[in-house]
Amino acid sequence: MKRFTKSFTQQEPISETAVERAVAVMRSGRLHRYNIDPGEISEVAALEEEYAAFQGIRYCLACASGGYGMQVALRAAGVKPGDKVLANAYTLAPVPGAIHSIGGRAVLVEIDDHYHIDLGDLGRKAEASGARILLLSHMRGHIADMDRLMAVCDKFGVTVIEDCAHTMGGRWRGTRSGNFGKVACFSTQTYKHINSGEGGFITTDDPELAARAVVLSGSYMLYGRNGAIPDEEVFHRVRLDVPNCSGRMDNLRAAILRPQLAALDEAVERWNARYDLLAEGFRAVPGLRVPARDPREHYVGSSIQFFAEGLRREAIPQFLENCAARGVELKWFGDAEPKGFTSRYDSWRYLGEQPDLPQTLAVLDKTCDMRVPLTFDLDDCRLIVEIVGEEVARLRSDQAA
Ligand SMILES: *Cc1c(COP(=O)(O)O)cnc(C)c1O
Repeated sequence: MKRFTKSFTQQEPISETAVERAVAVMRSGRLHRYNIDPGEISEVAALEEEYAAFQGIRYCLACASGGYGMQVALRAAGVKPGDKVLANAYTLAPVPGAIHSIGGRAVLVEIDDHYHIDLGDLGRKAEASGARILLLSHMRGHIADMDRLMAVCDKFGVTVIEDCAHTMGGRWRGTRSGNFGKVACFSTQTYKHINSGEGGFITTDDPELAARAVVLSGSYMLYGRNGAIPDEEVFHRVRLDVPNCSGRMDNLRAAILRPQLAALDEAVERWNARYDLLAEGFRAVPGLRVPARDPREHYVGSSIQFFAEGLRREAIPQFLENCAARGVELKWFGDAEPKGFTSRYDSWRYLGEQPDLPQTLAVLDKTCDMRVPLTFDLDDCRLIVEIVGEEVARLRSDQAA
């Protein structure tokens, strides 16, 4: 029996160009973003300019993590303790964590069977709860119909904050993911699309929100040294009303991100070549279903999700075990127990009482998830399809027997 031997957690190495830049920063001793010579531009400020240009947006703040970015975005957008915040129930733990950390109260919204937020439920929950903010996760890179979504949010006066941890580099109808809402958050953590170990960005076109975010991130009133920022007079208006909650990015991380950003669009195409091969392969396996993707969505296939529809729910742990025994690491979002990065909304007990979300649970019940690191080549993806296909077939014939 064939076995797959590469690691599902192995990212590509940091390029030599990036390593050299990092070494230069270390040799300079100037690691803190505000520790620069007069007239000098820090690595972080240069990265902010470059990321804003990449996104096609005016303002960008680099910060300590994606999760921290969401906390700052919520606060900068005016969310106060006790305020309700809508969020799709299919997301990762830092999202409810960000809402909770600023004293917000999460109102979870159902998802549909394409892993998108359910727009009908969004409208109902917005109306019934009176929430005026949506923290929208483009979970696992699935971008909902953003035109319809924005129309629902406009109708109910809901401000959208986009969590683009899985859509950096992706687009909807040609517009970059993150440029639909009022503010967007990105992560540069190792498993996302550019890798600095930890890190994140906030982007917006709103000058006041941008200034508040910069001061919140801990600017020590040195905000003039940031890149992609609004005019001084905007900072003068907000700077004494916003606390300093330190969570800056440092020059070392920025130095290794800049070359990666320059290669991101190319990396997206490499991810999608792998994703499309896997999706086609899994679709051909009787018992598996990969939801079709909207042609308007230009996704980034850094992970793949499918329904193990032809297997009984009780058989899924066995299926994962059998695949793992042959080197293929899958995760299951339907597990009642959070394992690794997976978790179901009902395991976030600190959120307090939440309404039943039967549709979300039904979708997650048979949802399997696989990382697609760029260290896999197309032959690796073919072998993975073969192994997964054989293991589904084996369990299905057991079930039939
Ligand atoms: C990774 C991730 C984040 C941010 O994570 P950090 O580890 O804090 O950078 C936010 N949302 C989702 C959906 C994520 O997967």
